[in-house]
Amino acid sequence: MFNSLTDRLTSTFRNLKGKGRLSEADIDATAREIRRALLDADVAVPAVRDFISHVKERALGAEVSEALNPGQQVVKIVNSELERILGGETRRLTLAKTPPTVIMLVGLQGAGKTTLAGKLSKHLKDQGHTPMLVAADLQRPNAVRQLEINGERAGVPVFAPHPGVSSEAEAPTGDPVQVSRDGIAEATRKQHDIVIVDTAGRTGVDAELMQQASDIRAAINPDEVLFVIDAMIGQDAVATAQAFNEGVGFTGVVLSKLDGDARGGAALSVVNVTGKPIMFASTGEQLNDFEVFHPDRMASRILD
Ligand code: GDP
Repeated sequence: MFNSLTDRLTSTFRNLKGKGRLSEADIDATAREIRRALLDADVAVPAVRDFISHVKERALGAEVSEALNPGQQVVKIVNSELERILGGETRRLTLAKTPPTVIMLVGLQGAGKTTLAGKLSKHLKDQGHTPMLVAADLQRPNAVRQLEINGERAGVPVFAPHPGVSSEAEAPTGDPVQVSRDGIAEATRKQHDIVIVDTAGRTGVDAELMQQASDIRAAINPDEVLFVIDAMIGQDAVATAQAFNEGVGFTGVVLSKLDGDARGGAALSVVNVTGKPIMFASTGEQLNDFEVFHPDRMASRILD
C-alpha cells in the first residue's frame, strides 16, 4: 500500500533538497508533481484539488524557518496536509449512554464486512467489552455460517436466524430487519454492552440493497454505522462511498484489504468526499490483522 506514492513523493522532495529558498516557480513545479502522484495513486479529483490548494497556500505563506531548509518545510506541510485529508484527529467509537451500543456494518459484498465483524468484536473484547454479533446478512448463503466461524475464533457469541445457535429468543424469521431487532433484544437481555450487526451486501450498489440497509438502520437506530470499503477497488471506492452515504448514511469508514498493493486512493479520498472519518483498517485475513486508524501515523507511513 502507498509504495508508489511514497516513492513519487520522495523523489519530488529530493528535487527540492539543497535549495536556499523556494521561488513561486519551484512551488508550482512541486505542486504539479504532487498532483500527478496523487492522481496516479487513484485519489479522487476533488480531494487532489483540495490537497494541492492547501499545500500551495501554505508553502507560499511559509515563514522562513531557521531550523528547516525549504525542502524540509514542504515535506512538513505535505505531512500535515496528508494527516488532514486522512481525517485529522483519531475518531473513537461513540458508545451509547445506555448499553448496548449498536454498531451496524454496511458495504458491498466481498468488501470484508463479515471478516471485520470478527476482528472488531475481538478488539472490543480485548478492551474489556462484552460484544455480541448479529447475523443479518441473509442474502449470501454462507454469510451466517461465516460469521459464526468468525465469532467462534474471536470468542464472541453470535445471534443467527436459525434454530440451535446461541439463541434463546424465538426462532427469528428470515427478515433481516426482524433478525436485527431480535439480536439486539437478546443482547440487551444477556447484558452484552456492544452489538455488531452484519448486514447484506451486493456485488454492485442497487436500490434494493440500499432500501434493506436503510430499513435496518431505521429499525435499530444504531450508534454507529460503519461503511466497510475494499481499498483495492481504487477510483470506484469514491462512487460507492457516495452511494452508501446518500442511500443509508454512515458515521464512519473501515478500510479493508490495506495489506494489498492498492495505490491508496480510497484512503486519501473518502474523508474528503464523504465528510466521514476512517475509524479502522483491516490488513489481512486473520483475526488480528486489524488496526485503529490513526491519520497521523498513516501520513507518516506514506512519507516514510
Ligand atoms: P463481506 O461479503 O463484506 O462480508 O466480505 P468478507 O468478510 O466475506 O470478505 C471477502 C473476502 O475478502 C474473504 O475472502 C476475506 O477473507 C477477504 N478479506 C477480508 N478482509 C481482508 C483484508 O483485510 N485483507 C485481505 N487480504 N483479505 C481480506
